[in-house]
Amino acid sequence: TRQFFVGGNFKMNPSSLEAKKALCTILNDADLDQNTEVVIAPPALYLLPTQELIRKDIKVSAQNCYVKTSGAYTGEISPAALKDAGIPYVILGHSERRTIFGESSEFVAEKTRAALDQGLSVILCVGETLEQREANQTSEVVEGQLKEVVKVVKEEEWSKIVIAYEPVWAIGTGRTATSAQAQETHAEIRKYLASAVSSAVAEATRIIYGGSVNKGNCRELATQPDVDGFLVGGASLKAEFIEIINAKR
Ligand code: 13P
Repeated sequence: TRQFFVGGNFKMNPSSLEAKKALCTILNDADLDQNTEVVIAPPALYLLPTQELIRKDIKVSAQNCYVKTSGAYTGEISPAALKDAGIPYVILGHSERRTIFGESSEFVAEKTRAALDQGLSVILCVGETLEQREANQTSEVVEGQLKEVVKVVKEEEWSKIVIAYEPVWAIGTGRTATSAQAQETHAEIRKYLASAVSSAVAEATRIIYGGSVNKGNCRELATQPDVDGFLVGGASLKAEFIEIINAKR
């Protein structure tokens, strides 16, 4: 059985240590489902203070890293430095990185390889735009994004990867995928993993949903057999994140 996974992607918010502390306090005081793996991803500058402040059963994740371990790469984050800092997770391939910062699936795969080489776990994001969904290209797009990663990851390394299906049209829009839409794509991703990697990997890999998840829709989404958790943006900055973590309880 796959352990339910809830990630909070704070993105470039909130921009003060005080606000971060307040968020940590809310989580530290909360009654959280111990069967759920919880990971929070603050902006890079706040990774270490967050790691100090947050309760030990919540893990901390970076939102991005580079492909090289060190060198003349001004402004980038080394996966080796994340490892050295004791940060166990990194989010890679988020749609904001793909669209705003022009990251290709090949580059995301290269980053995934570099992160795995340091022993980091990866939250790998995939998802289609509205235009692609309306053109019935959802599985093709998502599989194309996964394919590059499949090429560079060994079978036994898939235990370090959580796949986040985040339809671009649902991110920050208030327009969530219906539980049927999420289930359909998650099942397709699992089927793809079975054929491209192995049935054991398909069965064991967590596939989480992201895109306007909130306290009102999380329970219904969580009932779907192939929805193994969530990657939460906006709602992870609020107390309702606790209700999302506890969606299975
Ligand atoms: P929202 O929950 O704000 O839609 O963001 C989802 C997301 O991009 C998480 O990575």
